[in-house]
Amino acid sequence: MDLELTAEHRTIRDMVRDFAAREIAPRAAHYDRTREFPHDNVRKCAELNLMGVMVPEQFGGSGLDTISYALIIEELSRACASTGVIVSVNNSLFCHPVERFGTEDQKQRFLIPHAKGEKIGCFCLSEPAAGSDAGNQQTTAVRRGDEYILNGTKNFITNGVAADTAIVFAATDKSKRHHGISALIVEKGAPGFRLGKDEVKLGITCSGSVEMVFEDCRVPATSLLGAEGLGFKIAMNTLDGGRIGIAAQAVGIARACLEEATRYSKQRKAFGKTISDFQAIQFMLADMATEVDAARLLTHRAAWTKDQGGRFSLEAAQAKLFSSEVAMRSAVKAVQIFGGYGYMNDYPVERYFRDAKITEIYEGTSEIQRLVIATTLLKD
Ligand SMILES: Cc1cc2nc3c(=O)[nH]c(=O)nc-3n(C[C@H](O)[C@H](O)[C@H](O)COP(=O)(O)OP(=O)(O)OC[C@H]3O[C@@H](n4cnc5c(N)ncnc54)[C@H](O)[C@@H]3O)c2cc1C
Repeated sequence: MDLELTAEHRTIRDMVRDFAAREIAPRAAHYDRTREFPHDNVRKCAELNLMGVMVPEQFGGSGLDTISYALIIEELSRACASTGVIVSVNNSLFCHPVERFGTEDQKQRFLIPHAKGEKIGCFCLSEPAAGSDAGNQQTTAVRRGDEYILNGTKNFITNGVAADTAIVFAATDKSKRHHGISALIVEKGAPGFRLGKDEVKLGITCSGSVEMVFEDCRVPATSLLGAEGLGFKIAMNTLDGGRIGIAAQAVGIARACLEEATRYSKQRKAFGKTISDFQAIQFMLADMATEVDAARLLTHRAAWTKDQGGRFSLEAAQAKLFSSEVAMRSAVKAVQIFGGYGYMNDYPVERYFRDAKITEIYEGTSEIQRLVIATTLLKD
């Protein structure tokens, strides 16, 4: 077993680390405060070919593996967790399902511009009454001639305010529950499609979360992704990959906590010493460093397993569960190490603390990850 990154992986990581420190980190507090969608960050990521990392080059992507993708999302999220998830959603939740389940025509029309970052994609599964219970879709899509008529509301949609294109899940046959869900590619401007409430939130404040409303929204029948009834399978397959992105985002946030707390502990003085001289502080840093490494290893194992082909739901769930809880624990410790200053927005750890929490919730809560893991354990 080789746990070392390859030379190519190290080059990608170092390139994105340098880019994120120069271009993304300096504006992270600004975007956090203003909640503006960071269009310039997305444009710069597109220039570096980070919007379609795993998409083959023939469809506008970089053709890299999933470990490269995890390294990229970790580095972006270390600088700005909102930018990390914006890029992750376009890569994992939009480009992946179009590449995997789309027709050649859909790939030409949608995959290429989104993988190049000329357009931004989003993924619309959740609804007010269908979060963890995603099979309980209330949004409907009814086939009428050459069109589908969509009705329903999606909430909490990342990238929604800026998205050009959405993958929308809807019931085409409610009687079949999970097997009656279909996925449709819906473009901004489709008649009957509008943005609803702006979702004001605790952390990752500039990730463009919004409600999306479909009122007799008409889309061509050619918008169907895969086949009728395949939507739930598409969603679950997509989320398996997405969870590797969120695990990497969590590792990035946890590492930010560790690095800032380490730096601060060597500067702050109390009782005539730097606080890093106190064993209580050293032990917190030691625990954070150990957990960050463990989280990254689990994340890379999930990425490696995915790249081997075959199933990786278990590995992705374990990586997402552990890494997100590490991000939260690291953020709690970082604020503690900063003392009162950690509670103030003059320092970034307050933002890390707010950003960390979401990793335990979206793309399947920690309870849902435990369900996935336990189901695998108890099978047979
Ligand atoms: C900032 C943000 C961005 C998001 N972005 C997107 C997006 O881009 N696209 C999208 O489709 N969705 C998105 N979501 C939605 C997200 O995936 C859901 O919020 C999440 O899946 C949980 O669903 P819920 O909020 O309805 O909570 P619920 O499902 O109502 O869960 C409430 C609580 O009950 C627990 N629970 C539920 N069922 C079980 C069970 N069977 N066993 C044990 N515990 C259970 C949950 O773990 C949780 O603790 C986003 C959410 C947020 C907050």
